[in-house]
Amino acid sequence: MQEKVKYLIVGQGLVGTWMSYFLQQRQLSFKIINDTSIQAATSVASGVINPVTGRRIVQTWMIDSILPFAVKAYTALGELLGTEIIKKAPAILLHPSEQMKESFEYRLTHDNVYLFKNNPEIVHSFFNTPYGTGAIDECYWIDLNKMLSASRLALENKGNYIESNFEISDLTFIENGVSWKNIQADYLIFCDGIHSMHNNYFNKLPFAPNKGEALIIKVPGLPTNHIYKSNISIIPWEDDLFWVGSSYEWSFDNIAPTQEFREKIKETLGMCLKLPFEIVDHLVGVRPANRDRRPFVGMHPSYPQLGICNGMGTKGCSLAPYFTSQLIDHLELGLPIAPEATINRFQSLLQS
Ligand SMILES: Cc1cc2nc3c(=O)[nH]c(=O)nc-3n(C[C@H](O)[C@H](O)[C@H](O)COP(=O)(O)OP(=O)(O)OC[C@H]3O[C@@H](n4cnc5c(N)ncnc54)[C@H](O)[C@@H]3O)c2cc1C
Repeated sequence: MQEKVKYLIVGQGLVGTWMSYFLQQRQLSFKIINDTSIQAATSVASGVINPVTGRRIVQTWMIDSILPFAVKAYTALGELLGTEIIKKAPAILLHPSEQMKESFEYRLTHDNVYLFKNNPEIVHSFFNTPYGTGAIDECYWIDLNKMLSASRLALENKGNYIESNFEISDLTFIENGVSWKNIQADYLIFCDGIHSMHNNYFNKLPFAPNKGEALIIKVPGLPTNHIYKSNISIIPWEDDLFWVGSSYEWSFDNIAPTQEFREKIKETLGMCLKLPFEIVDHLVGVRPANRDRRPFVGMHPSYPQLGICNGMGTKGCSLAPYFTSQLIDHLELGLPIAPEATINRFQSLLQS
């Protein structure tokens, strides 16, 4: 017998989880299909929301709208799941060079919202800081693995979760919708991260996958209430474990962890960290990034029942709540998707 829902979602990483949250909030029926044997980028990400970026320490795209939306959404999702998933964790900047120190000093007095001078004594016991320190307010850390597993359990309990591989060959089009195995839906939304690259309907979008490696290290005694950023980031993970990374590789032929990365991080940590550390894990993931560094959000121009919410790149934590909500508002209320994010910008590619 065929079951009927309004939305079918492929993938329960960060984006699929947010889709499911907002669909529940709007009391819309859905099923989410996820294959846990396929690694989610979300499960290896450090989970940081940082309102500034780059060597010039400028504010990130749309941060004034996206940050308050994200903080509110993660707090509400945590309350719903009965567990804390977002923590405010100001970032301590350990300037890695004279140039970065100057960049910070300049930004402090020009269009500054988030930077402040911290008390350097706080970090001296833990780090060598030859170029001084600074700090960024309004940084947040999301416990992504807790968020994924608690959400999955809640989805399973409500009968909304299907553990399965979504094979595109099982998809059929029906009048005003789609059918997959025994389920019919008005809309099918791909939230399958980098795997959308191999999907016949969306593979013409300019994906630019980016490999990232990170180490999990044990550092007894290092305070866990801050994020530490130099030319590497050191992020509290759990107990006395810290996530350290990462690499950004645009060109790679495998997704194996590399000895080169491990050695480089060991050397950098040896120079900046005063406390002894032990490496306990080595993570690798592929960021669903794209060439114009803006998300892919919207419905296929030729198949209006097929949609995508993807391409979150290095900023999934802040972008995912905002753009999943926007996609649902677009479908349910006819509201527009931000022009920089809508896949309408690739209409001719998708129709070719
Ligand atoms: C090393 C590293 C560090 C990062 N750090 C940060 C950070 O600090 N802050 C930040 O904002 N972002 C960070 N990111 C980026 C962030 O991880 C991504 O933007 C985000 O996780 C993408 O989420 P997603 O849901 O699109 O994809 P994914 O998390 O990859 O989820 C896709 C889901 O789809 C499922 N799936 C795929 N194909 C199928 C199929 N055929 N059938 C069923 N299920 C399927 C997969 O199992 C997975 O669960 C980092 C990424 C990496 C690799």
